[in-house]
Amino acid sequence: MSDTTNVSIDVKCPSCGGDFEQFSADPKPDDMIVCRGCGAKIRYADFQAIADNQVAEALDKAIRDMLKGSGFE
Ligand SMILES: [Zn+2]
Repeated sequence: MSDTTNVSIDVKCPSCGGDFEQFSADPKPDDMIVCRGCGAKIRYADFQAIADNQVAEALDKAIRDMLKGSGFE
């Protein structure tokens, strides 16, 4: 396996850091997802925005680490 760019994202609740409940296989943007930790509800669209943000951060960090390893600043 040469898949070294796999970035796995677990979206955590912004208020308590807990996990969200599973949502349906075909979620709608207006579907509500409930936090298991504090019971906070967010729209699936917002959940996606958080996930996208975390993916971007994870990729940014991966690229930084890569550049660090290769001698670039
Ligand atoms: Zn929560």
